[in-house]
Amino acid sequence: MRKQQSSISVSGILIRGSLITLKRKCGKPTCSCVDGEMHATPALSYSVKGKTRILTLRSSDVPSIKRALENYRIAVGELEKRALSGIRLMTLHIIKAKKKG
Ligand SMILES: [Zn+2]
Repeated sequence: MRKQQSSISVSGILIRGSLITLKRKCGKPTCSCVDGEMHATPALSYSVKGKTRILTLRSSDVPSIKRALENYRIAVGELEKRALSGIRLMTLHIIKAKKKG
């Protein structure tokens, strides 16, 4: 949780989207999901070209998906910082140029 974060973002797997829980009935007439608890399946909801897609997951995949989602957040944060400092640099450059001219 200190300086290592940015190196994680470079080397780790990145996943974009959000973790959701799908609830469903399995169809067995004798199952408790008929009138009670429905089955919960973890899934990743993500969008590609404006379309939402769902990838169902195994519970055992959830921890690594969470890490990859966090890696993505960190990477986006880093990019955002760099983009803003790029704007700052360009702003200074333009101000200087205006003063000279
Ligand atoms: Zn069921």
